[in-house]
Amino acid sequence: MRGFEKLQELKDNMMKPIYEKRRHLGCELCGTTFYGYYKNTGTNAVPNGEESPHPTREGWIRVHTYDDVFYPDCPDCWFPTFVRDAKTAKLIFEREQEKSRKKEERRKERKAKKDAQPVYVDYKLRFENRQAYNERIIHLAGSPDDLTKYEIMSSYFLDKIFWKKFGKGCHTLESRHFTIKKHLYDGTYRSNSGKTRMGSFTPYFEVTNNKTGKVREVGTDSVLRHIERREQFGTNRRNDPKRNWGLPKNG
Ligand SMILES: [Zn+2]
Repeated sequence: MRGFEKLQELKDNMMKPIYEKRRHLGCELCGTTFYGYYKNTGTNAVPNGEESPHPTREGWIRVHTYDDVFYPDCPDCWFPTFVRDAKTAKLIFEREQEKSRKKEERRKERKAKKDAQPVYVDYKLRFENRQAYNERIIHLAGSPDDLTKYEIMSSYFLDKIFWKKFGKGCHTLESRHFTIKKHLYDGTYRSNSGKTRMGSFTPYFEVTNNKTGKVREVGTDSVLRHIERREQFGTNRRNDPKRNWGLPKNG
């Protein structure tokens, strides 16, 4: 037997007990614990108990690992990355669980706080809280006769009711002696290359008082704002002879 083969055999015999010992392991990602064996290949190396200060990062330590000794894969997530001894894995898993539980709790608290705040739709149209606002929309979608003057005069609020009752598109709603027609101003346009549609539709309403015959438009100011914005900044330059497709001029 040649020298290095002997050395190899010596090493194998030394390592044997490490690989053959059954160990209680766990995954800090899944919280699973299981019994398994260290392996001689893998990516998550097993620490050998030695530590030293990190060469460049102050306050950090380097954990040294055995050569050729790795944790096996987690039986649940199949990753070897988060496998530790069972006790450590369980501790880390529970700490992470607690962290996300607290985070979820804070998120719920924030939402509850926000929902409890009054909803201001308009100067004259306010609701005690989000729930009252939502319930009012549901109620009016079913009983449009209950619409108040201020509710009819808010295009934003009317649109919510139309969406609840009809979904998308233009529809007509009768409320007492009022006929309310929803229109959509097409504020979409082609992109400069003409490939994609951009922009959005702005809803506005035509309210007819069937007693007096008077017609009033609600929300046309938002349409006007839309148009003004377009005039100011411009959108479609498809017919612009100076347009250069955003490319540098050729010599
Ligand atoms: Zn796992």
